[in-house]
Amino acid sequence: MASVYDRNNIFARILRGEIPCAKVYEDEYVLAFRDIQPQAPVHVLVIPKGEYVSLDDFTATAPDAAQAAFLKAVGKIARDLGLAETGYRILANHGVDAHQEVAHFHVHIFGGKFLGRMLPKS
Ligand code: 5GP
Repeated sequence: MASVYDRNNIFARILRGEIPCAKVYEDEYVLAFRDIQPQAPVHVLVIPKGEYVSLDDFTATAPDAAQAAFLKAVGKIARDLGLAETGYRILANHGVDAHQEVAHFHVHIFGGKFLGRMLPKS
């Protein structure tokens, strides 16, 4: 995973409004929208508005206020989606071993069904 932020990554383009998204939440710090290829009945991506490549970059370099706001937003979005009672999973891929595809930090929120084991048996 490149450590230099690419301003033309797909999520940067969504943030600039160049590509549409199915928005579910927005505030000063984050944007949340539905994944284009959902892997659960509810599959939402939460991204910071700042330019961070991955969780590694975000946690190492983002201001504390942005990090706190991001995590609070993830919890609020899951609640607003009605997932807090039945349960949900959050996931963030960083780098090659995790198969991160889009190099703008994002957290997946999955829910709306029983999600089974955390990782498939290998
Ligand atoms: P990653 O593997 O990087 O953690 O996940 C990237 C996610 O972004 C994938 O689940 C993929 O379906 C989603 N994605 C890729 N391009 C787009 C897009 O243009 N719009 C939306 N809404 N999701 C996208």
